[in-house]
Amino acid sequence: MVEMRQATVACPFCSTLNRVDLTKVDKGPKCGSCGRPILLDRPIAVSDANFDQVTTDTTVPVVVDFYADWCGPCKIMAPLLDDVARRRQGELLVLKLDTDRNPQTGPRFGIRGIPTLIVFRNGKEVARKVGAVPQADLEGFLNGI
Ligand SMILES: [Zn+2]
Repeated sequence: MVEMRQATVACPFCSTLNRVDLTKVDKGPKCGSCGRPILLDRPIAVSDANFDQVTTDTTVPVVVDFYADWCGPCKIMAPLLDDVARRRQGELLVLKLDTDRNPQTGPRFGIRGIPTLIVFRNGKEVARKVGAVPQADLEGFLNGI
C-alpha cells in the first residue's frame, strides 16, 4: 500500500493554499502561486478562513497551537513547538492560530484558555492539551496521538 502523506497549507508570503507532498519535503516545496519556499520545518499560520480546509485536507496528524501575542505561557510553548515542527517535519503538521486575529475558530472548539493544543486527524479532534507544559509532557502527549 502506498502511503499518502500530504498537507494543505497557506503560503506564508501570498496566503495561497498549496497541497504539499510530505514525502518530498526534502526537495523544498514551493508555492504554486508566488514560487517562494513553503517551509514545513516551523509552525505555519492558520486562519479562520482556511482552518477547515487545512485541517481536513492534511493526511498526517495536525497539531494546532491556539495562542495570542500577549499570552506569557504561549511564549513559553512557542520554542517547544518550533522544535517539534523541525524534528517531525513531514510526519506531523504544526499550525499556529492567533486567537485575537482569528476569533471564530477557538469558540467552535470550546477553547476557554490559551495556550491550547488540539490534535486533528482528518479534520476531527483526537486529543487536546490545555496550558503550558514542560517539554517532556509535550513529547509524551504527541507520542500518544
Ligand atoms: Zn505564495
